[in-house]
Amino acid sequence: MSAIATATERWRRVDATAAYFMELAHWTHWVSCWAKAHERVGNREGRTRCYDLKHSAMECLAAAPHVRVSWVPSFQQLDIGRGRLEGKIALPELCDRHEREWIGAGYFERDQYIESHWSLLRSCPVCGPRLIEHETKAGLYHLDLLANRPELMRGVELPGVDFDFHVPYRIGVAFLPAPDELPAARHRALNSDFQFGRALTRSEANDHPEGTVTSRIRALLSVRGGHIRRASTANA
Ligand SMILES: [Zn+2]
Repeated sequence: MSAIATATERWRRVDATAAYFMELAHWTHWVSCWAKAHERVGNREGRTRCYDLKHSAMECLAAAPHVRVSWVPSFQQLDIGRGRLEGKIALPELCDRHEREWIGAGYFERDQYIESHWSLLRSCPVCGPRLIEHETKAGLYHLDLLANRPELMRGVELPGVDFDFHVPYRIGVAFLPAPDELPAARHRALNSDFQFGRALTRSEANDHPEGTVTSRIRALLSVRGGHIRRASTANA
């Protein structure tokens, strides 16, 4: 029996509703890794296909019982991720005075200047609102499915799988609360390797072929209605 089948059986004995979401989270982790793997080799079609499915799964996972949602503004990613914004959303133009100060400083790249002077620039009446907008638009939702459920994971071995996910603002805003209603993500949760996704290793790819991963997610999503209803009763 595969590790996930054994784990799912155990989860069902502990909490049948949670089991559904945990299994979905397991496969979502792998489709996220597939998306990253396609991204690495410039396969845009594969990347889009996997991220679209991941985001559909995330919308369902957001309804899971015991899910903890927090918020990572863009400056915090810079703070902890050594400039990990990875060019997704460009940093804003600065006011004339701060553009001059950047040029005057001489030795900074523009983005580097903004990153290292973030708090100072944030208090500027012109640059400030632009940076605050960037904090949101380039921010990430952080979903942690397991924080309070050690009983589900006792004795369960799923090597390489985490039940923490990030969802970009532009996707999550459709089904998650506004960022200012959420607690800030804890640094601890963000400091590990998976923080901005990772690609699969060769043996992980062999063990979790993309076709298997995507068909498991589709099968789980096709029966989500009843589980979401039960979860909302449990959460109420
Ligand atoms: Zn300014």
